[in-house]
Amino acid sequence: MNYPRSIQKLIESFSKFPTIGPRTAARFVFYLLKAKDEDVDRLVSSISDLKKNIKTCSLCFNTFEAEAEICEICSNSGRDKKLLCIVSKDPDLMALEKLKIYKGLYFILGGTVSALRKKDIEKLRFKELKERLKKDPGIQEIIIATNPNTEGEATALYIERILAPLNKKITRLGRGLPVGGELEYADEETLKSALEGRK
Ligand SMILES: [Zn+2]
Repeated sequence: MNYPRSIQKLIESFSKFPTIGPRTAARFVFYLLKAKDEDVDRLVSSISDLKKNIKTCSLCFNTFEAEAEICEICSNSGRDKKLLCIVSKDPDLMALEKLKIYKGLYFILGGTVSALRKKDIEKLRFKELKERLKKDPGIQEIIIATNPNTEGEATALYIERILAPLNKKITRLGRGLPVGGELEYADEETLKSALEGRK
């Protein structure tokens, strides 16, 4: 027996979320059925505003909410334009920004590669990264801040390889980050010393 169609449809939508399986999706739906109308309305309008208001920065691919074409980090004249930090995804940028010690620019790759398959490589913004560096000759140091796990390592090695012909200084986060872990979950002190101890 299946759930009524409206329930089933929403379960299918939630099941597409990262890490959410059909059982958790069903729990979300039944939670919504019991939730107050105003809470459901707020959720619906947040979701529809998201696509309307959020833009992706054409320089770093960070998401932001404004009329401008580039995000507040890229357009901030107080940032150090000689430093470019490459991260896999938005939450990694947020984790580094929270430390308030890094004043350079960013580039969001859009994920990591597990194996160096052409298909995986094409999904990430390697081409855009190379173009960005060509357009921006003022960048003197490229900091690779991928996760300290197998995928992050493979991605970092690939970045080093494709950027080698540019003859720029390329650094990696220093030791101390828990091996196998993810940058976005690292504690602030550890992340801070990994950034300061980059080499
Ligand atoms: Zn930007």
